[in-house]
Amino acid sequence: MHCLDCGYSLHELTKHRCPECGRVFDLMDRRSWGTAQAFRFKTPAKIAGWIALFIPVLLGIYITVQMAWGQDDWTIVVFAWMLAGIPMAIAAAIWLSGLAMTKTDASKRATVIGFLLTVFHLGLLSEWPIHAAFAIHRDALNRQAQRVNTGKSVSGWYWKDIYRIYSARTAQTSNGATAVILQIGQGAGPDYLVYGMTDQQIESSFNIWSYRRLDPDWHIVHED
Ligand SMILES: [Zn+2]
Repeated sequence: MHCLDCGYSLHELTKHRCPECGRVFDLMDRRSWGTAQAFRFKTPAKIAGWIALFIPVLLGIYITVQMAWGQDDWTIVVFAWMLAGIPMAIAAAIWLSGLAMTKTDASKRATVIGFLLTVFHLGLLSEWPIHAAFAIHRDALNRQAQRVNTGKSVSGWYWKDIYRIYSARTAQTSNGATAVILQIGQGAGPDYLVYGMTDQQIESSFNIWSYRRLDPDWHIVHED
């Protein structure tokens, strides 16, 4: 029977308070005291717990921003979790075994935060950041499409802190209408915001990795 905070032996004490560090314990509650070594697991468990918490928080922010920017959503999710999954699993394992060693249950707060993070990350699979970012900038994007349609250049230009437009061009669709294609991402699979195409026209005009309809006029397209 030892203090969980400092390891001090609590045998034959008359007061329910550790004389070494002041931690309160209860003879009848096995969770309020532990073995001579148990206290050593407290700090590593705490640190590992914080790491296991911060990884999904940072990841959530990263994925949200990348999705809002128009990066391919599933690629971002898979890539981010591939990098972060193993360190997070290790941290969570250290945390849980530390809890077991110190006979502590995960706190209510940790349980609630874990639940909320899980819900948040599952929610990201709905791709809401791109829809939210698009909804905020829809009017400006429509004006942008108008400019491109009348032959004005909009390339090489940061816009509204969200979309970086690398190039802008028009394209004739099969039904004779003019579509506007704004390239908003570079790299292996470029990303586009496309105005004025049907799903069918999108599929025949791009080397599709994936695409989503954002509203009746706009699609976001990720090329392979
Ligand atoms: Zn103590």
